[in-house]
Amino acid sequence: MGKPTGFMEWPRTPALKRDKHERLGDSREFTAPLGPEESLKQAGRCMDCGVPTCHQGCPLGNVIPDFNDHVFHDRWRAAWASLSSTNNFPEFTGRLCPAPCEAACVLAIDGDPVAIEAMEKEIIERAFAEGWVQPRPPSFRTGKKVAVVGSGPAGLAAAAQLNQAGHQVTVFERDDQLGGLLRYGIPDFNLEKHVIDRRLKLLAAEGIAFRTRVDVGGSVGWKQLAGEHDATLIAIGARRPRELQLPNRELSGVVQAMDYLDAQNRAIASGQPPALTAAGKRVVILGGGDTGSDCLGTALRQGASEVLQVELMPAPPDHRTRDNPWPQWPVIFRSSSSQDEGGTRRFALLTKELEGADGKLVALHAVQVELVQGQLREVPGSQTRLEVDLLLLAMGFVGPDTGSLCEQLQLALDPRGNVKVDPPFATNVPGVFCAGDAMRGASLIVWAISDGREAARAIDAFLVGQPSVLQTRGRDVPFGGR
Ligand SMILES: Cc1cc2nc3c(=O)[nH]c(=O)nc-3n(C[C@H](O)[C@H](O)[C@H](O)COP(=O)(O)OP(=O)(O)OC[C@H]3O[C@@H](n4cnc5c(N)ncnc54)[C@H](O)[C@@H]3O)c2cc1C
Ligand code: SF4
Repeated sequence: MGKPTGFMEWPRTPALKRDKHERLGDSREFTAPLGPEESLKQAGRCMDCGVPTCHQGCPLGNVIPDFNDHVFHDRWRAAWASLSSTNNFPEFTGRLCPAPCEAACVLAIDGDPVAIEAMEKEIIERAFAEGWVQPRPPSFRTGKKVAVVGSGPAGLAAAAQLNQAGHQVTVFERDDQLGGLLRYGIPDFNLEKHVIDRRLKLLAAEGIAFRTRVDVGGSVGWKQLAGEHDATLIAIGARRPRELQLPNRELSGVVQAMDYLDAQNRAIASGQPPALTAAGKRVVILGGGDTGSDCLGTALRQGASEVLQVELMPAPPDHRTRDNPWPQWPVIFRSSSSQDEGGTRRFALLTKELEGADGKLVALHAVQVELVQGQLREVPGSQTRLEVDLLLLAMGFVGPDTGSLCEQLQLALDPRGNVKVDPPFATNVPGVFCAGDAMRGASLIVWAISDGREAARAIDAFLVGQPSVLQTRGRDVPFGGR
């Protein structure tokens, strides 16, 4: 729990950021390490609150006061053991988690919460630097074979857990590289890809087999895969983007955000120029969320002449409202690191029309809206025309690609079009399970890891015919198996 009076002695320092101008000139990660001395103070701000509501805020149930206490007392190895007992990939969450735990921290009731996310990154990077993170293959094998389809955080977390339980796991991935959205969605300035490769190397050394460029449902059928394995986990994400339902959508210059981000990720990986670039262009991004913000940071780095991010809904309030009390996630106005770097933002703007010339987008027509009794209403006389060369659609995702799953396995879906799981993580097809965005809709890395761990527990119980030894929230079995 750190130091009971630490929060009065030391102010919160969240992850340090590299200078704005410097980071816009490269694609390296924008955060910088806190360092051991500052980490000790930040961990010391965790103050023995009695009921650590941060646990509830974290979908993984990370034992936050424990690892803070270890860091404060300079027991970094114990801090790493505590953190990795509940979280397979702190190097991802320590960089990318929106940290609902911090919103639920007792200090956040009327002050600045403990810098929990930054502490995770410090701990795991120290563990790697010290050489503590080594492959730990299980001490025995059960002889059971599991297929995991999809190598995003849900699939990888499940594979890691199932392998620890002694099952032989093969991860099948449609893409040429592993990692799911970590690899080809999230920009390098948020997550450099060697961080994924470092973890994949460990997972492979622990005995997990990886097969890339396998499109399950296409080149390999779902039935065939399920027939060749004792259990199958669907972890295919939820990549179907929401479309802009307007005439002229087909104009060149109108691009889905994921196509744009994917092109940039591949360009950085290959050292080649991107297939799609914002260089010298007037860019409008439709969607005020994280994907839109990633597009903004990418466009600024590529040298766009102007970038405007447009959100349909009105701007949220600066402070919590009465119906959004602590420890709930605060629905308040925020700015991401990319939004701090440049560009402009507009709220409550509804796109009405796309204007083109010679097959190319030239302008967007929009109107201001306001919320009246929960309904969006156009403000009379507020029409506007924005000149634009590149329009990026970042309006969210509508669910997983389930065509081949439904055809080949007769898999049941929930009313939102996600894979239906009932009881938790089990589909209607015996031996076939689901985890991550494919089951809950587009969400977060921390939820994908949590789902992967929970699904692994359900699969393990199914395979061995008794309650699983794999824990999900709270302490896990020691590495090395049952
Ligand atoms: C641009 C962007 C930025 C984001 N930033 C953040 C962030 O900062 N923090 C955060 O917490 N979350 C973020 N998210 C959300 C987060 O990335 C996802 O919630 C998470 O990756 C979901 O994990 P998953 O394993 O369920 O699916 P995914 O990561 O989508 O992985 C699914 C994998 O399955 C593969 N696959 C699909 N179909 C098949 C098939 N038929 N056969 C074989 N393989 C298949 C795909 O190629 C993919 O590799 C972001 C999302 C986007 C789009
Ligand atoms: S994984 Fe996310 S929610 Fe959980 S402790 Fe880390 S930063 Fe907080």
